[in-house]
Amino acid sequence: AKENGKNNYQFYNDELNKKMKRKMILETYLHKAIENNELTVHYQPQFDISTYRMVGAEALLRWKCELGHIPPDEFIPIAEETGLIMPIGEWVIRQACMDIKRFKNKNINLFPISVNISTRQLMAPTFIDRIRSILLEEEVDPNYLTLEITESSFLYYEDAKNNILELRNLGVRVSLDDFGIGYSSLSMIRNIKIDELKIDRSFLNDSLKNNRVKSLLEAIIQIGKRINTKVVVEGIETKEQIELLSSHGVYGQGYFYSKPIPINEFESWYIETIGK
Ligand code: C2E
Ligand code: CA
Ligand code: CA
Ligand code: CA
Repeated sequence: AKENGKNNYQFYNDELNKKMKRKMILETYLHKAIENNELTVHYQPQFDISTYRMVGAEALLRWKCELGHIPPDEFIPIAEETGLIMPIGEWVIRQACMDIKRFKNKNINLFPISVNISTRQLMAPTFIDRIRSILLEEEVDPNYLTLEITESSFLYYEDAKNNILELRNLGVRVSLDDFGIGYSSLSMIRNIKIDELKIDRSFLNDSLKNNRVKSLLEAIIQIGKRINTKVVVEGIETKEQIELLSSHGVYGQGYFYSKPIPINEFESWYIETIGK
């Protein structure tokens, strides 16, 4: 009844309070995530779709705290807002480089590892220097590091442009993540040479249901080819999707091949299937 029931406003307020509370708690925990060893990196392999050759892997951050596993889509925005993305983002880059070094020391065939970079990191005045030092300290050839950036970085176009140029001069590869879903995807690649486009998984998702989206997907792949940029299609889950893509000479990533997995699992899988 009305007297003990909640009206919409109260309900909305309670929900909002709950969300804010969780966010505040997560923020407190996130401050300690590095020193408490709560962060790990999982790896998801990328394949040349037509040859089934493994061509790289993406590093994806995982966080397990007292509240359990928190998905990156929940904690990365908090890290970005609070600035914690600076130490955390650097931790991921170093971890990826340490893992590249680990493979190198075991004489395992190397492949590039892609690390996601937030706009705030890319824009930091010290960013290029930090990357340079990490590569030196971990003795990693810059060619084995790919940095994935998103369109939001281009809100600060001039700074982004300079840092991307410097990264590429260092020999680090730059990939444009979530390509196609933003407002300015084309203008981003108009003025800056990028090494790779990652086509957002929504395109592949809808391609089998919607012919217009399929045509768009194929057109975007052609754009990549015409400007000599590698193309990675994200979110491949089914054999049908593989068939749709197999004649296009693109790279792919998704649960069809493998979920993101911890480094130890990834290493034994890699040694077993791809060999030394
Ligand atoms: P993203 O960079 O677009 O990463 C791809 C996401 O799709 C990952 O989610 C991955 O696990 C998931 N995925 C891979 N294959 C499939 C598939 O076949 N189907 C479906 N449905 N999903 C698939 P995840 O790991 O939860 O990461 C979410 C987002 O969090 C990432 O999206 C990225 O934007 C961000 N993120 C993750 N790690 C980092 C990091 O170290 N730094 C920063 N700045 N952001 C990160
Ligand atoms: Ca990514
Ligand atoms: Ca993506
Ligand atoms: Ca994303």
